Amino acid sequence: LEPKEEFEHSSLAVDVMRPRRSDPPLAVLTQDSMTVGGVEALVESTRYSGFPVVVSQESPRLVGFVLRRDLLISIDNARKRQDGVVGASLVVFSEHPPAQAPDGPPPLRLRGIMDLSPFTVTDHTPMTSPDIFRKLGLRQFCLVSPRVTRRLLGIITKKDILKHMAQIANRDPDSILFN
Ligand code: ADP
Repeated sequence: LEPKEEFEHSSLAVDVMRPRRSDPPLAVLTQDSMTVGGVEALVESTRYSGFPVVVSQESPRLVGFVLRRDLLISIDNARKRQDGVVGASLVVFSEHPPAQAPDGPPPLRLRGIMDLSPFTVTDHTPMTSPDIFRKLGLRQFCLVSPRVTRRLLGIITKKDILKHMAQIANRDPDSILFN
């Protein structure tokens, strides 16, 4: 098989997704247990274009996806304009904020910037060509475990697919470059 065909016939989403075993874990947001300061620290310690939102660290069920740019703009605006929002304010992506101490700072509600139905595949979905990103207007998609649990497993960008295809091409000494 040509590398391109080999890729399309034998690669599964789980072979292409990040993190690889040697990578740091996925950088995720939790839906109602992180503070503004905690979110800022996570965003500033990475360069990723976006962050999956999960129920909690204990229950990493995917609930949505937030773009880095939208997070930074919203937090910056809230810190400037929204009374009482401070580093200790809770960031809430869920529909209803959890009960909080009455004397605590007000929560920052960011459900409005979350993609509530991010495109997902499961770990054994066969990979397709990187064209899927353009065709579906995606920047990335998430891998989740099948059925109702929807446990977040990983993330795939167009570059991840291109790198995987290049690796397959390099493994095959007879391969000609494919576009
Ligand atoms: P690109 O692949 O276009 O550079 P990103 O900067 O978003 O896009 O992602 C860089 C790499 O990090 C990719 O391999 C991607 O799979 C991975 N990645 C993206 N978002 C996250 C995240 N929130 N946590 C961990 N890894 C991520």
